[in-house]
Amino acid sequence: MSNYKPDILIVGSGFYGTVLAERLANVLNKKVLIIERRKHIGGNCYSETDKKTNIEYHKYGTHIFHTSNQKVWDYINRFTEFNNYRHQVLSNIKNKVYQMPINLETINTFFNKNFSPVEAEKFINNKTKKFKNYKFKNFEDKAISQIGKELYNAFIKGYTQKQWGKKPKKLPESIFNRLPIRFSYNEDYYQQTQYQGIPKNGYTSIFKNLIKNKNIKIKFNQSYKLNYKIKPKFLTIYTGPLDSLLNYKFGKLEWRSLKFKYEKKKLKDFQGTAVMNYPELKKKYTRIHEPKHLHPEREVFKSNASLIIKEFSVLNDKEPYYPINDENNRIKHRKYKLEANKIKNFDFGGRLADYAYYDMDMTISAALKKFETIRKKIK
Ligand SMILES: Cc1cc2nc3c(=O)[nH]c(=O)nc-3n(C[C@H](O)[C@H](O)[C@H](O)COP(=O)(O)OP(=O)(O)OC[C@H]3O[C@@H](n4cnc5c(N)ncnc54)[C@H](O)[C@@H]3O)c2cc1C
Repeated sequence: MSNYKPDILIVGSGFYGTVLAERLANVLNKKVLIIERRKHIGGNCYSETDKKTNIEYHKYGTHIFHTSNQKVWDYINRFTEFNNYRHQVLSNIKNKVYQMPINLETINTFFNKNFSPVEAEKFINNKTKKFKNYKFKNFEDKAISQIGKELYNAFIKGYTQKQWGKKPKKLPESIFNRLPIRFSYNEDYYQQTQYQGIPKNGYTSIFKNLIKNKNIKIKFNQSYKLNYKIKPKFLTIYTGPLDSLLNYKFGKLEWRSLKFKYEKKKLKDFQGTAVMNYPELKKKYTRIHEPKHLHPEREVFKSNASLIIKEFSVLNDKEPYYPINDENNRIKHRKYKLEANKIKNFDFGGRLADYAYYDMDMTISAALKKFETIRKKIK
């Protein structure tokens, strides 16, 4: 491939890169080369099958596809079918299990009550009304003002501390707008989203389908630098972080990362659900994933073995997961963006380059929009 000159070079094989590759090759008939620093396709949505249990899992954390964007839903359904999975999250405190986000069932079980929806809302309002006109300085104050001290201490405080590696009093209030709380028994995590599910053949199969066109080539274990040996005819589209691209000239952008510990169980079912939160500080992990629950339609769901994955939150800039979106990092990122905009025949996007958290549907939507602007330039 050494003399190969693609029309477009795409750096990164996550949703942002592969959706653009698919559009450029299938709609504009362009030659696309994707380079990927990892040894596999799919970015953080990659899924693989555990050889021992035959259970498919999401290597970088459980991914639930959910969207209300009709354009994205129609587009992605050309590359996969989805099952009927509906996501639910539970929270384990002192070995008792509660529903998340906090709903009527959580409130009634936690306070040992039997409230109707209206009574529960009144009960919570009584706990929070004294905070109505406060000016909040940190995460903790704001959270207590929305759900009261007891629920905050039990469900949010420890989880947040483990997730961000800082006491919630030291975190900015801007991390969230509203903590979700429901005064109904609805336990569908994405209750307002029109479509949701897990790809029937796993995420990796979507990526394989996206790059099926023979005009798309992919090279693994290749880390892009600005002096990369292959120069495309028109454009490079970069989906990696901007700080490493520009040699950290304005300093490192900070990310929270995750570590996973895998355990195989000789049990049909370990926890009865795909994701269980563990807010207590004495448990070092934040969640346990049990991926077989993502595919109740599969034969392996009935097997007498299960894979569980404990998730730990850590500070690690090698595998970026969640941007630490504080003022300092935002200022740094703006500088990188201005600098990257000056590079000729170069474009960038996706969660890493934008230093943002995007759900998959947002990433796909952004790539489809980017394609429309690129096609006007290079047609
Ligand atoms: C823990 C976690 C759980 C999530 N769960 C959900 C969920 O349930 N539902 C949902 O909708 N979304 C979820 N998301 C979001 C989802 O992962 C992202 O929307 C999606 O991965 C973004 O795709 P991307 O292409 O922008 O980035 P990525 O998937 O990160 O892809 C970027 C690719 O670029 C490669 N790369 C980077 N730098 C270079 C370089 N210099 N040279 C070569 N290659 C490079 C990387 O290796 C990577 O493969 C979750 C995210 C996290 C962190």
